[in-house]
Amino acid sequence: MAGCLVTIADEFRTTPGHSAARAVIAKKPQAMRTIARGFVLPFLTALCVAQPAFGLGYVEERIIFKEPSLPKGDPVKDERYISCYDIYTLRLQNCSLTRQITGIKDPRTSPFNNGGHNHGFDSHPLIHPASGALQFSGTDTDPAPLVVRGQTQNTEVKVTHPLPRVAGKIMVESTLISPPRWFCAARCFTLNSWKDKDTIDVGMRGLVALFAAPSDDFVFKPSLAGDTHPQANYGTERLVDAARIISKVYREKTNRKPRITDMSLPKGGMFDLNNQWFVDKNNGHVSHHTGNDVDFSALDDGGQSINCFLESTRKMKDAFGKTKATFKQCYKNGHYHIRFP
Ligand SMILES: [Zn+2]
Ligand SMILES: [Zn+2]
Repeated sequence: MAGCLVTIADEFRTTPGHSAARAVIAKKPQAMRTIARGFVLPFLTALCVAQPAFGLGYVEERIIFKEPSLPKGDPVKDERYISCYDIYTLRLQNCSLTRQITGIKDPRTSPFNNGGHNHGFDSHPLIHPASGALQFSGTDTDPAPLVVRGQTQNTEVKVTHPLPRVAGKIMVESTLISPPRWFCAARCFTLNSWKDKDTIDVGMRGLVALFAAPSDDFVFKPSLAGDTHPQANYGTERLVDAARIISKVYREKTNRKPRITDMSLPKGGMFDLNNQWFVDKNNGHVSHHTGNDVDFSALDDGGQSINCFLESTRKMKDAFGKTKATFKQCYKNGHYHIRFP
């Protein structure tokens, strides 16, 4: 109806338990929870176009940090609340919404974007496999699993994105289109639409790389051309410190250096040795997704067996005690796995 202004509102809330994002919400006063976007009347269109503040071609862009979903339990979710409303009365209106996952951020070959998986760029998981589709509180008229299309129906609608277990930067885009005869009033993409682009940066924060200098007490496995996970040397600071302590004691006792094979990927998350985006106990590093686990090769840099890390010796027992390893396992003729959560 003529004489009204509509504003699009958009907000996101967080999955309970995600402390970093919850802090952001806590800082905002209640009244600020919705961010105003505008639609204006036909007779105000000229004014809108004339006003730089109302400019067109505007795309709201955000980066949202999220942890990957764990192998067990509920997926980590990105939940987005979206509505459009009359800028004067604040009454919610019925706009057309499209929200879609568009893919991994380019360049997809960059480990910053693909989470350290140098393979399967077209099949990189964008959503949790248990649900496999964006969930919409309204009626979704688009059968494509990575697209939600529908009306906001004079309410605040919610789009839920259950996040994958694999780290990586996922691009998501929303477009709201005004009802007939309504116009966008502020931060508009076109005269009657509003757009945002989110980068959901799925990954563990704060993992650090461990490199082996010649003077260090350990070596890494040789890096092979075509390695699909070439940056498997990331872990928590605690893991990095612990790996150094254990290596030092081993070297003191044997005069040889143990060889680290795999830790976690740069952003953690699933470590699919099989390059197929799933892991189980036969084919992958099921537990190597949080930067707490390290594998040592069964053979040290001298080609000798590490002998289960001489774990029965007094000095090695002390070293393990000092590092507070919560789990260690020596696989027969295999590697030695240690965890330090
Ligand atoms: Zn992979
Ligand atoms: Zn392992």
